[in-house]
Amino acid sequence: EAKARGKGRYVLFDASMRDRALDRLQLENDLRHAQALGQLRLHYQPIVSLTTGELESVEALIRWEHPKRGLVSPIHFIPITEETGMIVPIGEWVLREACRQLGEWRRELGDRAPRSISVNVARKQLMVPSFPATVRKVLSESGMAPSSLHLEITESEMMADAKAAIEVLRSLKEIGVKIDMDDFGTGYSSLSCLRQFPIDVLKIDRSFVANIDEGRDLAALVHAVTQLARNMGISVVAEGIERADQVVLLQSLECTFGQGYYFAKPMPADKFAEYAGRDRRTSNAEALACLTH
Ligand code: C2E
Ligand code: MG
Ligand code: MG
Ligand code: MG
Repeated sequence: EAKARGKGRYVLFDASMRDRALDRLQLENDLRHAQALGQLRLHYQPIVSLTTGELESVEALIRWEHPKRGLVSPIHFIPITEETGMIVPIGEWVLREACRQLGEWRRELGDRAPRSISVNVARKQLMVPSFPATVRKVLSESGMAPSSLHLEITESEMMADAKAAIEVLRSLKEIGVKIDMDDFGTGYSSLSCLRQFPIDVLKIDRSFVANIDEGRDLAALVHAVTQLARNMGISVVAEGIERADQVVLLQSLECTFGQGYYFAKPMPADKFAEYAGRDRRTSNAEALACLTH
């Protein structure tokens, strides 16, 4: 009896596994054409100063407009692009499109344009020997100052082979681009490890921000991080801010920048231009002022 039940369970498991494998194969197939068919888009999320409310920077986040599935999240297709190597041409497209877009906003919005733009870079992309040359080429094509480009690499991907990563990061720093450690707190590096990495910005993962009110320990940890970062000349961005009370707490922990739905969700380029064109200086500053008083 137990055997029969076991067998039945196996069949069910097998069917759902097969469905998932087919689904994934279909997605992979569609993805092969997505770039050529112009189905890839970038959405943009503001990064805001928590002290003045000013728009500081912007993160470019990829979306796939699938003809049948609608807008597909990067968490569903970036892993496939990494496994298949498609991340290399797609990542190059992201880099080029982000730089082009910042140039357009600068012409359109003048000093209301974000000062810099952040692009996520997967480890697989970072480790291609020609990656620094690609960055150089894209920058010179767009005429953008290298310091306006931030490359985000997750803590765990930096740590995976720290020595090799540091070497590439150094050659990127030579070009003059900025390096952001993304999703900090989800990897396993100790704070003292940070010194090894030539980074300019530390992005505190949103799981920290989400749980920060649950106990003093987490708040103390975040404060330790902001203090250490300040001593090292590193800026700190808190990710995933969804509520006003999180802003207040992060301000008290001396966290300088923030990003999250509380300020704005990622949005298409035209919506972002509207957002930036509105006087954020007054509106965000007012929002922050009524919070702090
Ligand atoms: P990430 O780089 O850590 O980006 C932040 C993610 O958090 C984004 O998800 C953003 O929409 C989401 N987010 C922002 N504020 C909030 C908030 O207040 N609450 C919540 N719950 N979420 C918030 P998204 O756009 O789905 O991207 C997921 C991840 O996919 C990114 O995480 C990044 O690792 C990766 N990714 C996105 N675009 C690219 C790309 O062009 N290249 C590569 N290699 N990876 C990318
Ligand atoms: Mg990121
Ligand atoms: Mg992140
Ligand atoms: Mg990430």
